[in-house]
Amino acid sequence: MSETCHTYSQQLMGTTVSLQLFVENLPAVSAVFQTIQALETRLTVNRNHSEVMSINHAAGSQPVAVSKLVFDLIRQAKQASLLPHSCFNFAIGPLVKLWKIGFNGHSVPPAEEIAQRLTLTSPELIRLDEKNHTVFLTRTGMEIDLGAIAKGYIADITKLVLASYGIHQAIINCGGNVLTIGSSPLTSNQQWHIGLKRPFAAADSLLGILHLQNKSVVTSGIYERYFILNEKLYHHIIDPQSGYPLDNELQSVTIISDNSLTGDIYSTILYGLGVERGIKELDKHQYMGAIFVTKDKKIIIRSNQHFEFKSLADDYQICSYELN
Ligand code: ADP
Ligand code: MG
Repeated sequence: MSETCHTYSQQLMGTTVSLQLFVENLPAVSAVFQTIQALETRLTVNRNHSEVMSINHAAGSQPVAVSKLVFDLIRQAKQASLLPHSCFNFAIGPLVKLWKIGFNGHSVPPAEEIAQRLTLTSPELIRLDEKNHTVFLTRTGMEIDLGAIAKGYIADITKLVLASYGIHQAIINCGGNVLTIGSSPLTSNQQWHIGLKRPFAAADSLLGILHLQNKSVVTSGIYERYFILNEKLYHHIIDPQSGYPLDNELQSVTIISDNSLTGDIYSTILYGLGVERGIKELDKHQYMGAIFVTKDKKIIIRSNQHFEFKSLADDYQICSYELN
């Protein structure tokens, strides 16, 4: 266990991306960061130009051909948006841009404006052509937003990049999306130790530590990007039904899964479903585990076979949940 850990970080995708390796391999490190940067450049909607922005700019006028990589992610984003009871919606862009939560100029928009933008957020109104890899937003003003899944997709691709350099033990952390690759050389039982952040506390303040191997850990929560107005908290996951931030008993949901894209999709979906409906949904997916953290300080853990959770928070109660 005298392994040396090499850590590298860069500011990308609006967050700090860090990579931990246990061999020195600078070509692999630069390949990882270059890949992330290249993918961000294609997928972002926070700049005026990207492949996704070229689709958005052509809303209401014509289909736009995109690369296979971008098309694949958009196809999966549409599927996730059409799942029954899914609060995940890749057509949510007009509302994200209106609220500006996590960006300069956020405010609570007038109700009429929210209602008007809601009419532009139907995933069915986005047409995909599998043969030509085109995407068509059929109404003017529609916008795709892949913010809830891009980091997961990108994390999975970095795993492939590392594998192409013969690296099979690593951690890639894309600001809250953590992908552990292989087994840990740092611990005697070869489990990685991944911290679960305490909501609304300093970055190094933890609720507990997950022990796991070769898994993705993705959290969706209300405490990373939000603002408070008149004592009400407005966070960045928008309810596609109401157009307002989702409001339920949860502070966060963490998904433990094999790949990070799935974790990213389901952290958002299960967050929207809340504890009871979220657990029912989770139980359909044997390969996924979850940790729900509630506003009344309960930690509800489901599917232990994928991970162990060691609590560090005396003020939070660990609960099992009996479905009605
Ligand atoms: P995080 O960015 O903290 O990882 P999420 O994965 O849940 O959290 O993604 C939140 C981002 O996804 C928002 O910043 C916004 O860009 C976008 N978004 C907001 N509401 C929705 C929604 N209902 N469905 C899909 N994407 C959303
Ligand atoms: Mg997500």
